[in-house]
Amino acid sequence: MSHSAQISNQTKRWQEMDAAHHLHPYSEHHDLAAKGARVITKAEGIYLWDSEGKRLLDGMAGLWCVNVGYGRKELAEAGYKALQELPYYNSFFQTTNPYTAELSAKLATLTPEGMNRFFFANSGSEANDSWIKMVRFFWNLQGKPEKKVILARTQAYHGVTVGAASLSGIPSMHPQADLPIPNIQHIDYPYWYELGGNEDQQEFGLRIARSLEDRILEIGADHVAAFIAEPIQGAGGLIIPPESYWPEIQRICKKYDVLLHADEVICGFGRTGSWFGSQSLGITPDSMSMAKGMTSGYQPLSAVCVGERMGDVLFNANEEWSHGFTYSGHPVACAVGLANIEVMERENLVGKAGGEIGDYFQKKLTELQDHPIVGETRGMGLLGAIEIVKDKETRTRFDDAGGICRDHCFANGLIMRAIGSTMVLSPPLIITKPEIDELFALARRCIDLTAQDLGVQ
Ligand SMILES: *Cc1c(COP(=O)(O)O)cnc(C)c1O
Repeated sequence: MSHSAQISNQTKRWQEMDAAHHLHPYSEHHDLAAKGARVITKAEGIYLWDSEGKRLLDGMAGLWCVNVGYGRKELAEAGYKALQELPYYNSFFQTTNPYTAELSAKLATLTPEGMNRFFFANSGSEANDSWIKMVRFFWNLQGKPEKKVILARTQAYHGVTVGAASLSGIPSMHPQADLPIPNIQHIDYPYWYELGGNEDQQEFGLRIARSLEDRILEIGADHVAAFIAEPIQGAGGLIIPPESYWPEIQRICKKYDVLLHADEVICGFGRTGSWFGSQSLGITPDSMSMAKGMTSGYQPLSAVCVGERMGDVLFNANEEWSHGFTYSGHPVACAVGLANIEVMERENLVGKAGGEIGDYFQKKLTELQDHPIVGETRGMGLLGAIEIVKDKETRTRFDDAGGICRDHCFANGLIMRAIGSTMVLSPPLIITKPEIDELFALARRCIDLTAQDLGVQ
């Protein structure tokens, strides 16, 4: 890591406090404590700086979320103003506040037709957990309490709370916590590069989609409540399904009356070139969850959005919905969410991600395919994935190419994430063409260094 050399006493002090007292998400604690955590102290535009003054180009927009980039005064000022006027009040007890009301109405203008009602929470995980309870309540209200099983996919990422981690399909997430909970099952995922072999991509897409139908028939359609999926799988490896996949999934959900939920936590707010991934991929879901880009990470905020079918049933229920967070519809988070949308609209960030800037990013990404250890690149909007392989023909992978490449990236001033041997990119939507050039020049240099380390010329 970059900080193995001489580091300042200030950095050392922070690292020691952190090592002694901070349990990090997704970390091997003793290993991290021994190395010392990287201390990030400031950020501007698409760049971060660590406590040693080293600059990093943030190719991941934080954790897929800082869509408007860092250092946006407008978001800070919106938060400051709300903090002074109404730092907190809840939405229980027949109460609302201007920020939450206005954000709800604004969101309804951006979401697909008919998706007009929002329940607010503070994270993607909480949104998805809330959705599980909504689905159960919906079918109970419909007089079909036996419709209980929720289907999700292998390598899905839906969060870490007990329900959301159960929906997630990344195998390492389950055994430590004795998950999944009952009535959640997983089907195959549409990862052609990994699983498709010589099969035609569209055939593969159809076959994997039909495994949903097989499972529904196995369980019995009367017992299947819903199917949840990310339009493009993010944390599971940036998996973009073949075009044949989503229409077939839609057909199957409709045929067996299974609710379809799009987890838009990454794909939402412009990432794929539309406001929501469902719009880019032609999906008409019954409900969606959103978080991350919703405030560009400046405040914790998430929502479950329901369309007419679920919305009308929940809205017209003759009993109170026993669910809600102390911070549901937090005024400060909603104020920042509104400012975030204003910036995105004024700067046409969604149009750019779906047009000129997204196209340029995809062109530069595709150029990496000539590299001897790059087996495939794929992307949409401002999402990109690079498969590092030993043999392009057989798609054989190296043991830890991802980790090696990621470390070279950090050392050379680029944040690019490794998911197994897949390198992924998700930069802030404000990225410019010269910055895209810089990003891919760094990426190529780090892939070169990785190839050298792995003994490839
Ligand atoms: C990050 C993520 C989540 C979980 O969000 P948290 O805010 O970390 O709880 C859920 N779904 C998807 C698709 C995500 O990428």
